[in-house]
Amino acid sequence: MPGPIDLHTHSSVSDGTETPTELVDAAVAAGLGTVAITDHDSTAGWREAFAAASGTGLTVIPGMELSTNYGPASVHMLAYLFDPDDASILRETARIRDGRAHRAERIVERIAVDYDITWADVLAQSVDGGTLGRPHIADALVAKGHVTTRSAAFESILHWQSGYYEKYYAPSPLDGVRLIIAAGGVPVLAHPATHGRYRVIEERAIAELVDAGLFGLEIHHRDNTDDGKERLFELAAKYDLVVTGSSDYHGEGKPNRLAENTTEPEALARIVASGTGSAPYLG
Ligand code: AMP
Ligand code: FE
Ligand code: FE
Ligand code: ZN
Repeated sequence: MPGPIDLHTHSSVSDGTETPTELVDAAVAAGLGTVAITDHDSTAGWREAFAAASGTGLTVIPGMELSTNYGPASVHMLAYLFDPDDASILRETARIRDGRAHRAERIVERIAVDYDITWADVLAQSVDGGTLGRPHIADALVAKGHVTTRSAAFESILHWQSGYYEKYYAPSPLDGVRLIIAAGGVPVLAHPATHGRYRVIEERAIAELVDAGLFGLEIHHRDNTDDGKERLFELAAKYDLVVTGSSDYHGEGKPNRLAENTTEPEALARIVASGTGSAPYLG
């Protein structure tokens, strides 16, 4: 399908503010030719996204943003076109979501010492069975009037140095790549050169991921630094990795707009040719 290609978006199945149907409607309205739905640690939005795309001409790439932990850093791994019924993927993502929920509950317990907020307030901001995270706590803090926006919450109460923060269980990036490859999927390192906690992982580790099947780097992303992008382009050339670009759209949950960064058709073609666990939905 001609039109811009955006390979990283979130729905209310994780921390986007729009349902999969609303996300697809927004993608059509933005004039996209192809959108990937990549909720954190869940494929629960795929079916609804496909149904919503039917008859619109939009192509939907089924995907996910898998959480991984690399030492103290949180590393996100985009996964495309894998088998959503793969037993190992199902087991691991269920474990991550469960860990995320318990972690969010403990963060809320600590915040509740200082602010009027309950676990029920947070659950009210999320979908049943969805992937819980700090954005849902942020929405509850906004609803209670403690902060004005999600971003303001992340800069204060939910900051990883705030004293309320804790991490959650996730596999290593290497195990993440292996899991995605074993399920017929295509692993692409998400925003690998952001500031702060999410910094570029060293070349040795990238090389190890490439050996395990890492297929691409998400270079065109607003959170990657300019210096980091330069370094990533060198790595992409050296290891023959596909370069992607995307918005990381979260609806109203983040300022990121659909198609603010996009992927070249040739890069998408390589991803589609490599993925064997599921197929693009041609709406
Ligand atoms: P968590 O996975 O629970 O640690 O929360 C991190 C998630 O929150 C990321 O996946 C982002 O999508 C989202 N996030 C991070 N910073 C912000 C922000 N400033 N505003 C809105 N959402 C954010
Ligand atoms: Fe997110
Ligand atoms: Fe991410
Ligand atoms: Zn994302």
